[in-house]
Amino acid sequence: MSSKRNFEVIIGCEIHCQLLTNTKAFCACENRYGGMPNTRVCPVCLGLPGAMPRVSSGYVQMGAVAGIALNCKIAKFTKFDRKHYFYPDLVKGYQVTQYDLPLCYDGFVDISPDRRIRIERIHLEEDVGKSLHLEGKNSYIDFNRSGTPLIEIVTKPDMRTPEEATLFMQTVQEILRYVEVTAGNLEEGNMRCDANINLKIFEDGKEFRTPISEIKNLNSFKSIRDACSYEIERQLKEFDEDRQLFEEGYKRTLGWDEAEGKTVLQRTKNSIVDYRFVVEPDIKPFSVSDQLIEEATKRVGELPEAKRSRLKKQFALTDFDAQTLTSSKRLVEWFEEAAAKSKSPKKVANWILAEILAVLNERNITIDKIGFSPKDLSDLVNLIEDGVITSKQAKDVFGEMLSTSKNPVKIVEEKNLAATSNTDEIRKIVIEVIEENPGPISELKAGKTNVQGWLMGQVMKKSGGKANPSIAAKILSECLK
Ligand code: ZN
Ligand code: MN
Repeated sequence: MSSKRNFEVIIGCEIHCQLLTNTKAFCACENRYGGMPNTRVCPVCLGLPGAMPRVSSGYVQMGAVAGIALNCKIAKFTKFDRKHYFYPDLVKGYQVTQYDLPLCYDGFVDISPDRRIRIERIHLEEDVGKSLHLEGKNSYIDFNRSGTPLIEIVTKPDMRTPEEATLFMQTVQEILRYVEVTAGNLEEGNMRCDANINLKIFEDGKEFRTPISEIKNLNSFKSIRDACSYEIERQLKEFDEDRQLFEEGYKRTLGWDEAEGKTVLQRTKNSIVDYRFVVEPDIKPFSVSDQLIEEATKRVGELPEAKRSRLKKQFALTDFDAQTLTSSKRLVEWFEEAAAKSKSPKKVANWILAEILAVLNERNITIDKIGFSPKDLSDLVNLIEDGVITSKQAKDVFGEMLSTSKNPVKIVEEKNLAATSNTDEIRKIVIEVIEENPGPISELKAGKTNVQGWLMGQVMKKSGGKANPSIAAKILSECLK
């Protein structure tokens, strides 16, 4: 082994991601994960001869939402193509995909403030069926997944470490979940990553490139990192053993054996496989309307990273709090609506982070199922800010809001919880307290200042805890002058 050796890692990713449309890509079958095999099928997604595909409503728009969220340009004109290959779960013998006119192109994802990963393209395509191999027995095919709408995200070879590849996948997952185009569960196969990896090796003034390995279907963040790390070591070792073996264009397809912790060769290719792409003749090429792009842009709105830095500045939130609030678009929009109407947006954030999230977790629901509105929460916070109720009382009112969905102002009224802000009433109590305590008053006049706090306690006690504390304190000071 040479001592003057340096190398650079080159990683590019292809991510397949299932979209959350109601129906499958080209038929009216329900688009959903799992269920009894072959219960959501029709002539189109079974690939029966003569069945006519129709582009499902919302499919193209959802693809555009994903593209805009990942900073892509959206094509004005696009089409579907057939990609031919043989596989038992691909019944038609071809997959409907997009070849030379993808819906989205030229995007990027910032995985940190100074690392940008470019996206070459995002195209629409359909998922295939699923083969089930029962141990040593028969194989079966479930077509429930056949025709599920996908996007395929193809990056430039911009990642330099296994950690960057993992972070890229995590960032894409966060963004696409945030804009609600995918469930994004890697374990359910909603998102699947193929990593292309090779090395640029510099040795004694010469540059070598190892052949590209494509590691297929990495279904966890850990496996992306581990498979890439393993492949770097394997390629270095192979280079040391025999660097003359490979011709230009030689490429391997590998799988990742999680249990063994190593990549497994699936096939090799010496030239580009000819998929015999042809235009899908059953779906007319189509224009993407300005209106569709406008609506998609509106749906994307402000992306999580931009929103976080704005919220941090605007409401003095910590990194962690901003991160938690932007974990879903619904949650952060709910927060912003409540904050806008509140006298203390910071307190609104605290109520969500401390109380509401616990309820959501416990009930396993999203914010829109909480049973009261953002305005109800801001009303609750305003009641505290105005001194109408104490923070302690607010907890009880909150409990009542959860169980009855009533507005807090109404709850305070009904339970007669409101502190009195009636100055005449409070002044009357203050004067009574002063008259009833000549001893302490003379101590106060002699310079024992802590007596004022004790007198304040007496005022609160006499009012039955209902005097507005800040008004009472002000009146007490006035009367003692
Ligand atoms: Zn169908
Ligand atoms: Mn694909």
